[in-house]
Amino acid sequence: PLLYHLSYSTVWDCKDRQKSFRYKFFLTKFALMYGLRYIQVILPLRLGWEPLYSYKEDSLPSALVIGDRVKVMFGGKEYVGVVSEENAGEEASEVGLDKIKPILGPAKGLEKVSLEEIRLWRMVAEYYLCTPGEVYKAAYPAGKVEEEEVKARIRERIQARIAKLDEKIAKARREDTRERYIVQREEILRSAQNDKGTAHSDGGVVLSEAQESAFNSVKEVFKFGKPALLRGVTGSGKTEIYLKLAADTLSKGRNVLFMVPEIALSRQLEDRIRNHFPQELEVFHSGETIAKRAETTSIIKSRPYLVLGTRSSIFLPHRDLGLVIVDEENDPSYKQDNPAPRYNGREAGIMLAGLHGAAIVLGSATPSLESLYNCSVGRFGLIELNDKYFQAKDADVEIIDTIAERKKNGMVGSFSRKLIDRINNCLDKGGQVALLRERRSYSPVLQCEECGTIPKCDRCDAALSLHIKENGEGKLVCHYCGRVKRYLGTCPDCGGLLKPLGAGTQKIEEEAAELFPEARITRLDSDSARSRKHETEIIKDFSNGETDILIGTRMVAKGFDFSGLSLVAVIQADSLLGQQDYRADERAISLLEQFRGRCGRRADKGLFVIQTSQPDHPVYKTLSGDLSDSESMAKQLSERKMFGYPPYSRVINAVLRDRNASRVELMSRSLSETLARSLGNGVKVIGPFSPAIEKVGGDNIRIIRLLLPKDKRLKNNKASLEEEILLFESERKYSGHIALDVDPV
Ligand code: ADP
Ligand code: ZN
Repeated sequence: PLLYHLSYSTVWDCKDRQKSFRYKFFLTKFALMYGLRYIQVILPLRLGWEPLYSYKEDSLPSALVIGDRVKVMFGGKEYVGVVSEENAGEEASEVGLDKIKPILGPAKGLEKVSLEEIRLWRMVAEYYLCTPGEVYKAAYPAGKVEEEEVKARIRERIQARIAKLDEKIAKARREDTRERYIVQREEILRSAQNDKGTAHSDGGVVLSEAQESAFNSVKEVFKFGKPALLRGVTGSGKTEIYLKLAADTLSKGRNVLFMVPEIALSRQLEDRIRNHFPQELEVFHSGETIAKRAETTSIIKSRPYLVLGTRSSIFLPHRDLGLVIVDEENDPSYKQDNPAPRYNGREAGIMLAGLHGAAIVLGSATPSLESLYNCSVGRFGLIELNDKYFQAKDADVEIIDTIAERKKNGMVGSFSRKLIDRINNCLDKGGQVALLRERRSYSPVLQCEECGTIPKCDRCDAALSLHIKENGEGKLVCHYCGRVKRYLGTCPDCGGLLKPLGAGTQKIEEEAAELFPEARITRLDSDSARSRKHETEIIKDFSNGETDILIGTRMVAKGFDFSGLSLVAVIQADSLLGQQDYRADERAISLLEQFRGRCGRRADKGLFVIQTSQPDHPVYKTLSGDLSDSESMAKQLSERKMFGYPPYSRVINAVLRDRNASRVELMSRSLSETLARSLGNGVKVIGPFSPAIEKVGGDNIRIIRLLLPKDKRLKNNKASLEEEILLFESERKYSGHIALDVDPV
């Protein structure tokens, strides 16, 4: 709006209102006489206003309407925009018809955008203080795929699935399994022939009594048009409830969006969904190619669908959505940090559901404090599921104090003797073990024995970690920018020997191989799971009992269902705690609870061992049940209230990035002072401060944290903040360095 006003006033610096009015009137008439029409266009840019363009009515077979894609010039460059207003004659005459350029033409072959999509972009942009253009850019990455290519890809995929099913049919030992595959095969063929396909499986979901009652409560909440929060302990069968809800929705001819934080961690879930909805399932995640996006678009436009996807699947051209599921709703991966739109898939999911009149269910074993708060004030409906489906009990928690053990000579490398005993015990009984270590690599940090130097990345303020390649050679990797360096084993400063500080997953794997020579050991982290095939194999082998010990990063904590797992252990839990963030504890608890839930999913009770140097940390109290859920929530809420943090306020970070270290220091201070002076109105300005890693990929980072009271001033405060930033950028000639991050995680 600010920029709009600026441009408006330069064009219409006309004192004589009468004259200006007549001039406008004349121009409008003139334009209409020549059959010109005016439209407003959203461009894939950070632009606070939507430019106007014209076209000759008879140059196109039919008039342009909202959602059409058009090619236009802006700032000397060509863009594909989306028509956001089809009758902009009045706006055009205000700006001055002679200033308005014609469009280059319609963007042929590009899909039209729906009204709901544009509305969603506007909502997301307003909430996250970015522009509809930035959302558009994220939703429709530039590039184009020929329709023929899309069709060919879809055909290929169907053929591949049929071939796979044929294989399964040939191999199936039981008659009923064989028949199920045959039915699936027929259904796939049928829906492929008839693109509109209406037939779909009923899902075949059978619920337990507890699940049935939770399912009914969820539907009760839906009746009030509210989001439902399903809080269910791990293994309670939340997924089964989602599937039943999905079956319900599909049978009414409406579609389903099933959101997960990360696809990599949802492969088992994908299989489960495929069993129930083989022809509706479509998987979509961030980082898909343009061709895949086109394929998904074509599928969801032509037949009933259930999209399983990450946050970006929000921006697919959904139609007739009846249900949105947000699994693991508290997971920080739902938030996009960079670039804009810096949105949270959970919040955007609620907006999307609202636009489509769809029901929405959020689920988690450890819901976010924000969502629980929303339940307590009646905005969401809370449904609890406290029993595990297989009647198993929660694993017992055993905390091992690594400092005390070290003093007693009770540590062997990264393992305590106690943990070694537990592992041996478990293996002797034929059980399986999962070990979690948050740091991948062989050693997360190296230090010179002579001079104490810690080798760091040139472009980031972060220690380089040592990775051992398959051929046994070492390499140094920066986990922030990905830069790789040769490892020579000696200090870059003095030539002394480098020694590893601490052990990453690779080293733990090596130590475990020595400690448990009989055991079959595998590792799951983003290094070992580089290809999907390899990753699937690691998981499959562990799930079939072909490996005994699974070592990995938080990937091992999430979602998997391994029936033989009876011992889970965290090697160095300290790395989960010490983050300078008011949500660190909440996150640590969530991860630990999730990991705990991996074991003892069948009848036996499992054991959860945590090795830590801070055994008295409050996080462990919650875990071991010393604090009940509601006590722990009350405690956390009162802390948040005391410091004025969410849910009692809205946090917005102004993040500054700059190659120049002294300039970022100067600018961030100056911006902080400006904001403190100009915002007022209950807004708290904190900082600037440096994040834990203050330089990433050559950019120096500073953060100014703003706490906005959550009351009727919120809207105005957000608008003034946005204006102040624009003003600061233009006055100080500092464009392109400041980003606003609403509800940062
Ligand atoms: P959650 O997602 O709540 O952690 P899951 O949905 O993964 O729990 O369920 C845990 C286990 O119980 C899974 O192995 C699942 O197959 C099984 N299970 C849950 N509900 C049912 C059901 N109604 N019928 C058959 N198996 C079920
Ligand atoms: Zn780096």
